[in-house]
Amino acid sequence: MLSPDEIRSFLDQPPCPEDVLCSLDAGAKLPPGFARHAREAMALGRKFVTEVVRGKTLSLDRLMHQEPDHLAWEFVEEANRWGLYSQWIPKFMGGGGAPFPSLCHFLEEVGAECLSMANLLGVHYLGVATLCGTWNLPLISRITSEVWEGQKSGRPCLISLALTEPGAGTDVEEIELLDKGEVCTRAKRVKGGYVLDGSKVFISNGHLSTWHMVVAYEDPSRPSETMVVLAVKTGMPGFSFGRVERKMGQKACPASQLMFDGCFVPDELVGMAPHQISGLKRSVRKTNMQFIDYVFGASRAGVCAFGAAAARGALEEALQFAANTEVDGQLLVNHEWAQCLLAEMVKNVNLARLAYMEANYACGMYGIYKPLQAKPLSLISEYTPRKVLTNTVGAAMGMDAATRIFRRLMFDGQTDREIKRTSGWGSLAKVVGTDLGVKNAHLALELMGMAGLRGDSRAQKHLRDAKLLQIYEGSNQLNRLNVFNCLAADACKGHEPFSDVDVRANNA
Ligand SMILES: Cc1cc2nc3c(=O)[nH]c(=O)nc-3n(C[C@H](O)[C@H](O)[C@H](O)COP(=O)(O)OP(=O)(O)OC[C@H]3O[C@@H](n4cnc5c(N)ncnc54)[C@H](O)[C@@H]3O)c2cc1C
Repeated sequence: MLSPDEIRSFLDQPPCPEDVLCSLDAGAKLPPGFARHAREAMALGRKFVTEVVRGKTLSLDRLMHQEPDHLAWEFVEEANRWGLYSQWIPKFMGGGGAPFPSLCHFLEEVGAECLSMANLLGVHYLGVATLCGTWNLPLISRITSEVWEGQKSGRPCLISLALTEPGAGTDVEEIELLDKGEVCTRAKRVKGGYVLDGSKVFISNGHLSTWHMVVAYEDPSRPSETMVVLAVKTGMPGFSFGRVERKMGQKACPASQLMFDGCFVPDELVGMAPHQISGLKRSVRKTNMQFIDYVFGASRAGVCAFGAAAARGALEEALQFAANTEVDGQLLVNHEWAQCLLAEMVKNVNLARLAYMEANYACGMYGIYKPLQAKPLSLISEYTPRKVLTNTVGAAMGMDAATRIFRRLMFDGQTDREIKRTSGWGSLAKVVGTDLGVKNAHLALELMGMAGLRGDSRAQKHLRDAKLLQIYEGSNQLNRLNVFNCLAADACKGHEPFSDVDVRANNA
């Protein structure tokens, strides 16, 4: 038999078990309530679908087609009444305290019925993740309390992430590409804050959000070293909304243009800036990439859950059809070729689900969820009343010193290997889940023929909705490159990430 030391020394070679099976590591270390929270999230999702979503999927899609500028406030207000915009915010920040990984299960339930509505909910947590990824505790505390207040008062307070610019989509998601992109959103440092100029496009939930986590640059000719994350509130002077994009799918979730013209953002709304992170272990440039990885490691798992949802929605349509349609004198479901096609779809749903779970384990063990998934903290959070938590932990978050300590713990405490693991798994899950979502949407249409193409069939909507998933949160091409860079490239000496400047030409 091997001794424990021998086992460790063999398993430390790449790929080590933690690199390829985050769940194996997580089983022993995650808090005991993990499985219960997942079940609760699924049950909540099913209840919400039954009582709110079901029956409105196609009518809302049709309404958006007829009136593309319509904003789905009615849905957002109903979701707010259900507490869904604060449910996955920690209790000491005033939220419902459900652990982040369970959000994916909830989104899968809602997304299988309607991806538009799932995104109206899910993309708010992309904003929350961006806010949290700055580890700026007073700002996190301020904005998340507003979300909680918004729930109590019935006036929803949503958060968006504004990263993409008219001339830079893929480029702003990787530090190696950022300096090659054409960014134009400038944050000029002035006394007491920053002045913001420029514009952002395709910002999900933009028009519906109260807060916008805006990524800008002190010097757009050196963006990777001068990135600034600012919290901008709807209504601030110098900030306005532009057009809402006309999209092929997920129509109810608006993709907005945000415009900044001399918008003054005071110091207390600066989430992260070069002068705040210059004393950390890594360079400002590398810390900026670490921030992006913290956010996307988690949010790409969420997009994978959307992919699993699309795959499942398409499967459910196909099963219904096969069980109710006769071909050659017998039910379609009794033809073996149809069973094989349906089995393929079942396989795709389950693989997509496994992928987002694995990415969630990675985030819980080594990424953005780590502080909340540590057993002692999660137990305290679970069993202490919200009021006590907000008065103690919440109050401590207001201190600047707490931010300095927390940033050291989170940025300096994360190893390079952990960064690659969470980022790589986020990308892997995103590619797997979204490709399988599109695949199943195709298969459903293949099985259903013209019945699936009609406007009153949800099958065609699944395909239109699912296609968008392969593009946002970084195109799948970019995510494939990130999988290679994070999870495979170490084995290739001399490899330089994103060194191929002519990628667009090569892609064509
Ligand atoms: C519905 C929707 C919602 C969105 N929501 C948000 C949001 O809430 N917030 C936000 O900030 N952004 C959002 N986006 C923007 C989204 O993140 C970008 O669309 C995405 O990153 C791709 O950028 P792009 O569209 O500019 O494509 P481009 O960057 O122009 O890419 C075009 C093509 O070239 C390929 N390509 C480009 N560069 C490389 C490279 N270096 N290597 C390999 N291939 C490359 C791409 O894969 C793609 O195939 C949203 C987009 C959509 C469609």
